[in-house]
Amino acid sequence: MFPPETRILVVDDMPSIRDLVKSHLKAMGFKHIQEAGDGEEALRLLIQSNTPSSKIQLVISDWNMPNMKGIDLLKHVRTNAEWTNLPFVLLTSEAERDQVTEAVLAGASQYIVKPFSAKIFEDKLKTAFQKHFKA
Ligand SMILES: [Mg+2]
Repeated sequence: MFPPETRILVVDDMPSIRDLVKSHLKAMGFKHIQEAGDGEEALRLLIQSNTPSSKIQLVISDWNMPNMKGIDLLKHVRTNAEWTNLPFVLLTSEAERDQVTEAVLAGASQYIVKPFSAKIFEDKLKTAFQKHFKA
């Protein structure tokens, strides 16, 4: 599982979903959580924090957002050599369920269909971690 010091970026256009995700993360012991309201803001934060001491180490992003969707944020992230192995978990609604193949091909570490339980959330993060850090 990701260590508690992991710097996490939570991206969703709905403040209530960001709060929900943050509360799950805090309950799991994570302390370094940043948030963004859309993909553009997330990309700016990723670029700004791209130093060894502040580098974001996990992105949890909604799919459907204004300005830049989660899938497009993911594609941007994966085109940058710095971020090819950055764990990236997509939050999707039922409506995007048919598009998850696109997400997998684009390099999503995991996807979580909303609404989700704390247990599912934690399990998906564990799987995402294993995918990146355990051969
Ligand atoms: Mg949304």
